[in-house]
Amino acid sequence: MAIQKNEETILKEVVNIFSAHLESNNFRKTPERYAILEEIYRRDDHFDAEALYIHMKNQNYRVSRATVYNTLELLVSCDLVKKHQFGKNLAQYEKSYGYKQHDHLICVNCGKVVEFCDPRIQQIKNMMGELLKFNVTHHSLNLYGDCEGDCEAKS
Ligand SMILES: [Zn+2]
Ligand SMILES: [Zn+2]
Repeated sequence: MAIQKNEETILKEVVNIFSAHLESNNFRKTPERYAILEEIYRRDDHFDAEALYIHMKNQNYRVSRATVYNTLELLVSCDLVKKHQFGKNLAQYEKSYGYKQHDHLICVNCGKVVEFCDPRIQQIKNMMGELLKFNVTHHSLNLYGDCEGDCEAKS
């Protein structure tokens, strides 16, 4: 992931955004919700809700599975977390605030996810939007295949 700001600055900003979102929707500002947010912003990968829950448990946070699941949805609804559906796998999540727009390559054998960024995709968005009179706000592009090395050798 291309880091544009330092981690602590980003963390402060996301905490503010999340607080404003919780307040405006009359959701309680519980320490558990902030712990989950921080945990997500400390990691650099794509994860499913269950893996996050287990990770929180292993770090001795007192959070319930339900809290992890509904906090993730809250974070998705205020654009702090992106939710992906990679093939038939469970939904996967990643932090999104302060990180560059990117797309994904997914290995269908081992589930490995690799990120890439190519400015030509932005050009296609602009061009197609103009041509087809469409205000393109976001996109998703997932490329599937086998990752080289172990996976390719096996198949
Ligand atoms: Zn693989
Ligand atoms: Zn990603």
